[in-house]
Amino acid sequence: MTPPAVAKLSSVTKLLRDLVALPSVNPAFWPDDPERTGEERVATYLADLARKQGLEVSRQAVLPGRKNLLVRLKPSGKVGRRIILSPHLDVVPAEDKQFTPLVKNGRLHGRGSCDTKGSVAAFFHALLELSKDKNRPNETEILFVGLVDEEHCQSGSRVFGERGPRGDLAIAGEPTQLQVVTAHKGNLWLCLETRGKAAHGATPHLGKSAIHAMARITNLLLTEYVEQLKRRDHLLLGHPSINVGIIKGGSQTNVVPERCSIEVDRRTIPGETEASVLAEIHRLLKKHRLPSTTIVESRGVPCLSLETDPNLPVIQQFLKAAKRRKPHGVDYFTDASPIAMGGTPAIVFGPGDIAQAHSADEWVDLKQLDQAVDVTLRFLREQP
Ligand SMILES: [Zn+2]
Repeated sequence: MTPPAVAKLSSVTKLLRDLVALPSVNPAFWPDDPERTGEERVATYLADLARKQGLEVSRQAVLPGRKNLLVRLKPSGKVGRRIILSPHLDVVPAEDKQFTPLVKNGRLHGRGSCDTKGSVAAFFHALLELSKDKNRPNETEILFVGLVDEEHCQSGSRVFGERGPRGDLAIAGEPTQLQVVTAHKGNLWLCLETRGKAAHGATPHLGKSAIHAMARITNLLLTEYVEQLKRRDHLLLGHPSINVGIIKGGSQTNVVPERCSIEVDRRTIPGETEASVLAEIHRLLKKHRLPSTTIVESRGVPCLSLETDPNLPVIQQFLKAAKRRKPHGVDYFTDASPIAMGGTPAIVFGPGDIAQAHSADEWVDLKQLDQAVDVTLRFLREQP
């Protein structure tokens, strides 16, 4: 009897399958689980592959036990240009079964398959292919950077942006469905606190309710302020947004609340800064004569919006390689922003759909995975 036909897996699919089978959950989510957390297993695996191919491997310390992986394909001549391929190696938590990759109906299922080991596999495979090619660029250095900690604080890209070498272009890998993303929103986490005066619940007129003040502020932020934000418009990103994610206040049912706080997620567009956002919220509260409120940024790391000029020749070249006429914008924050802050023009690109990222059944379309390799190779081969 002949066995059932099994579709032959391409080498990039096999690479992705191996990467998904190496759990690399960000330790910030599972602090005491070394078997399934940390980027080191994935980094070691890729480093071994790179060394076998004669590529230069180095590491960049980021956090205790966590290092970015740098793999360099040097040009035959002097370095005149540098292209950085920078996907992240960490993933979000998942059920155990998601660490066993499954190839079915043209898809590869498993944690990280689209966010963002699909990009890791596509970029790394393109790099290995190019290293075997005699006609590779002779002035352009290709630097693959496997970043740590994207899913928590983006510490990998922050350290790389600050201390790593600059490049002519960095491509952060994220599931953009092969769209070329040149702009994304920034992110501010704000904590607002109101103070009242405590009193017995039987005599509320003797106190001042911090909850009442905060209720009015929350209402204002979600009505008038939202309308104000809708009047701002960015060509690729639309308007900025606000979400009140947490409210906490009061201590007892029979006590007039002395304190109330809210935590706010404000997504910014280019041109908006932490200072401008704080100032406009203070102005709005003042206009409505709301009690003075402390507002503090609670994230502790800057998450600026990304806006890379799509008219840069290198971006035009990438758009052409990706067969896209126009660049795209996305709402979510990525490693491209900290890298761009370091002075390297950055874009976001990769196979898969963000809708499947972090989901209980994460998968990537294998045709898109192959196409991501083709686009990357087409672009790299065009380099001087
Ligand atoms: Zn990601």
